[in-house]
Amino acid sequence: MDAHTHLFPPEIVLDRTLHLERDPWFGELYASPNIVLVTPEDLVASMDEAGIEMSVVCGWPWRDSGLCREHNDFLAEVQRAYPDRIAWLAIVNPVAAGAAAEIERAVNLGAVGIGELNADAQGFSWERPSEIADTMNSCVQADAPVLIHCSEPAGHAYPGKGTATPDKILRFLEANRELRVVAAHWGGGLPFYELMPEVTELARNVVYDSAASTYLYRFDIFPVVERLLGAGRIVFGTDYPLLKQHAFLNKVLASGLREPALAEVLGGTAMRVFGIGHDRDDR
Ligand SMILES: [Zn+2]
Repeated sequence: MDAHTHLFPPEIVLDRTLHLERDPWFGELYASPNIVLVTPEDLVASMDEAGIEMSVVCGWPWRDSGLCREHNDFLAEVQRAYPDRIAWLAIVNPVAAGAAAEIERAVNLGAVGIGELNADAQGFSWERPSEIADTMNSCVQADAPVLIHCSEPAGHAYPGKGTATPDKILRFLEANRELRVVAAHWGGGLPFYELMPEVTELARNVVYDSAASTYLYRFDIFPVVERLLGAGRIVFGTDYPLLKQHAFLNKVLASGLREPALAEVLGGTAMRVFGIGHDRDDR
């Protein structure tokens, strides 16, 4: 299971120009025509090629609540078209009025979580958790995990990196102890700090996804984090279409991660976190 992919509605895939202006963060990342957008059919074809059974699809961290809502409607439609292949996360701007109501609506439409939230893109700060407390309480009430974009305080700059570094994420976790969190992009390096007992305690409801690893780390990050935290804390995610699913999966298979950890990372943990596929276990 690929727990971190992105799809956009067909009108944006066909012509992104309008949205480059409407949303600054989207504009920064997608101005280059070399950055591809794909259709649900492309995603499913990619999954078939890679041998991936299910993908968890995110939309985009729009600032505008109307765009979030439209994107959620689109992803609900995609899931109805591919009920066995696609699960989706709903996007809201957590500081916008009406975010709580949209979470409730999206969960009723079948969303398995919320995300990928992005503080830099959406104009809030992980260091000021009170601003987004109502939204996060709604996620706890709905038992919906929240996927959050994280980034490294060190290393190279890249488009979309942002400033959601482990120190800020910890401040957020401190205020949201009941919330289930998927920290994208290996939590910006947070797994290392879990060697500190107080950080382990704050991160007890956190799992880490591997999205965009190819751009960030050597692939021995898989066995290294497995040794640090155990396989039950890692979910395989690619960030497709930014990275190709098949090539990424092959790198994970060659990373030195062994069974049974491999099975956990490649689906078991994500299925548990997102509450997916319980019926499949019975087959
Ligand atoms: Zn991200």
